[in-house]
Amino acid sequence: MRILVTGSAGFVGAALTERLLARGDTVFGLDNHNDYYDPALKEARLARFATHPGYTHRRADLAEQAAVDAAFAGFQPERVVNLAAQAGVRYSLTHPHTYVQSNLVGFVNVLEACRRHAVGHLVYASSSSVYGANRKMPFAVEDAVDHPVSLYAATKKSNELMAHTYSHLFNLPTTGLRFFTVYGPWGRPDMSPILFAKRIVRGEPIDVFNHGQHSRDFTYIDDIVEGVIRTLDHPAQPDPAYDPVAPNPGTSSAPYRVYNIGNDEPVQLLDFIALLEKHLGRRVEKNLLPMQPGDVPDTWADVSALRRDVGYAPSTAVDEGVARFARWYVDFYGV
Ligand code: NAD
Repeated sequence: MRILVTGSAGFVGAALTERLLARGDTVFGLDNHNDYYDPALKEARLARFATHPGYTHRRADLAEQAAVDAAFAGFQPERVVNLAAQAGVRYSLTHPHTYVQSNLVGFVNVLEACRRHAVGHLVYASSSSVYGANRKMPFAVEDAVDHPVSLYAATKKSNELMAHTYSHLFNLPTTGLRFFTVYGPWGRPDMSPILFAKRIVRGEPIDVFNHGQHSRDFTYIDDIVEGVIRTLDHPAQPDPAYDPVAPNPGTSSAPYRVYNIGNDEPVQLLDFIALLEKHLGRRVEKNLLPMQPGDVPDTWADVSALRRDVGYAPSTAVDEGVARFARWYVDFYGV
């Protein structure tokens, strides 16, 4: 299939692109190579597949409508995976406009291009952060999520609302995937696994917020990629009987879906750090600090809907995932 992947130089986008190319898809990657974190890491990720005959890359910004439309017009994708976004909760407290540009303006440009070019399925990244300070565990898609606690989370929830309007008005099949803390080789340097690994390797103390009492549903990158591909291959079928002027939710529905994609096995932050220490072979001193604004205490994904609908079954135990991450870390960054 012809698949357009936005954010193809990113952590999830590069891993996904590599797998799509390996199974024979033709991929058009779009990324603005921004400097939110080390652009050299993005170049190194791209180098894994940049010369593959099935891959075309375009450096462009999602917020520029003409550039997005030109990419769609030239490539005519059958399916689209939108992963490009300004990620990160804490950064959204200090750089709100970046989130508006990439995650809202950029997302509407993607929706518009999908509509104009009759894309068969748009899969896009939402986030566990939409659950805000929800305390009901595990998080289920049916839970009310209208109290985001960061602008990042608000943009991700907005993406779900915006996608609904396009599914409803234009019969565009859309699927939002709420990712839960993705980790693994080629990960993001602004996220805890690499931040912690750097300090462990250098013998420097690490700051652990919420006194290490956070738990996160850490999900291994290969399981995420497997889930994205399964989802991409199973679009909600547009219902020809669906009438956007007089929708009847009892008999037909817009081709709109949202799922959790996590590991269904939350891990305490201090236990995750202990695994990093074990697999990097060094102990680290911890500064236990209070909770940070915008953070949520715990995350835990109920993945039963994705399991039921596409057969999603995460299979990487966190001990094994951290072992693979640590091997990659030492190989890439050295000790
Ligand atoms: P990432 O930052 O590594 O990848 C995003 C890529 O998008 C980057 O390469 C960046 O250069 C690009 N990009 C950003 N703004 C752009 C723009 N305006 N135009 C074009 N390209 C742009 O992040 P990731 O970890 O791979 O995350 C992928 C998606 O999943 C993001 O939407 C993120 O919000 C979401 N998500 C990730 C996690 C996680 O744990 N990694 C958790 C929840 C949600």
